[in-house]
Amino acid sequence: MNPVLVVGAGPAGLSAACDLSQAGVRVLLVERREELGGAPARWKYHTLAPDFVPVSRVLGPLIEQVTKSELVEVKKGCVVESFRGSVGDFEVRITELKTRRSETRRVSCVVVATGFEHFDARVDPRYGYGRVPDVIGINELEAMLSQGRVVKRDGSAPKRIAFVFCVGSRDRSTNPWCCTVCCGVSIKQAIELKRILPDSQIYMIYMDVRTTGLWEKLYWDSMEKFGINYIRGRVGEVYHTGQKLLVKGEDTLVRGPFEALFDMVVLAVGMEPGEGTRQAASIFGLNTNEYGFLLPRTPNIHYDSGREGVYLAGSCVAPMSVEEAISDGSAAAMQCVKLMKVMRA
Ligand SMILES: Cc1cc2nc3c(=O)[nH]c(=O)nc-3n(C[C@H](O)[C@H](O)[C@H](O)COP(=O)(O)OP(=O)(O)OC[C@H]3O[C@@H](n4cnc5c(N)ncnc54)[C@H](O)[C@@H]3O)c2cc1C
Ligand code: SF4
Repeated sequence: MNPVLVVGAGPAGLSAACDLSQAGVRVLLVERREELGGAPARWKYHTLAPDFVPVSRVLGPLIEQVTKSELVEVKKGCVVESFRGSVGDFEVRITELKTRRSETRRVSCVVVATGFEHFDARVDPRYGYGRVPDVIGINELEAMLSQGRVVKRDGSAPKRIAFVFCVGSRDRSTNPWCCTVCCGVSIKQAIELKRILPDSQIYMIYMDVRTTGLWEKLYWDSMEKFGINYIRGRVGEVYHTGQKLLVKGEDTLVRGPFEALFDMVVLAVGMEPGEGTRQAASIFGLNTNEYGFLLPRTPNIHYDSGREGVYLAGSCVAPMSVEEAISDGSAAAMQCVKLMKVMRA
């Protein structure tokens, strides 16, 4: 039986590859970057919300399994450039990005787990990202937290820090959907900041706080144990006064304008389908929704692409957490195992 092709080695793809190999199925894992681990590895996530668990504890065993298993062939720095044939015997052309060398391989079925990209906050000039110093994204703060050192561009520690929620999310001029995790991730980061900079004052400027399920504990702890402040409002402008960052906006509780000075502004940038997902949609002939996420045949059944032998997993379908992406990968792997059993019978 031909191996299963898994495209993308983030939490969803790793989980699919792991489960397949543990079920005795051969896997061809194709990742376009030179490292495994998806967004958490690329952006050097420090810990995962909601439990402050080091990323290595969650993804480490998955990466170890796929790199050590004799059943998994890992192809880093590669993409799939063509796809044809029928279930059980698809033919794919895999190209190494650096050398442009290609090879043709046969695979039985496919799991597409090409993930998301962070919203590029330069697209929305209100926040000054890319122009105004010390306006950063939660992805950049996560990397600073991993180094245990959060500093402004001049090397000093920030004293007053604002988080701005829903940047490039829930906004019809950019992306109208909710990214589902960035409230919780921002609050997790604010708590971590308080641990390393206990004298800092932190303000969360939010539309709504969406810490669903067990993530809600982060919200209460942030106020009751760490003294983090919440302002319900919308930011209209961020600019540098020469010494501080001036954030202007509307307080939507008291229904009036607000202005406040900060040393650092952290943008809770959302998740959107990226170039890798667009490329996969075109190669595998998959449907996308109005936003560019891959569209399952039945909305509530993520793995079913509607194309026989091609399954979907993870944040290429919708914004989601690491735990959901891992479960999605397992679900797609299970579909491949079922299909192969039917083909063998
Ligand atoms: C700043 C930030 C912090 C976050 N922190 C947390 C957290 O604390 N807790 C939590 O639960 N969730 C968190 N998340 C969400 C988490 O990052 C995602 O749930 C998770 O990364 C989704 O996994 P994935 O495998 O679907 O996608 P990704 O992690 O995006 O992985 C997809 C992989 O596919 C590869 N790829 C893409 N296209 C192709 C292609 N055409 N060919 C080959 N390879 C391709 C990519 O290079 C990548 O390696 C955070 C998100 C953000 C924005
Ligand atoms: S998770 Fe929170 S910050 Fe992110 S888009 Fe949804 S409401 Fe906004």
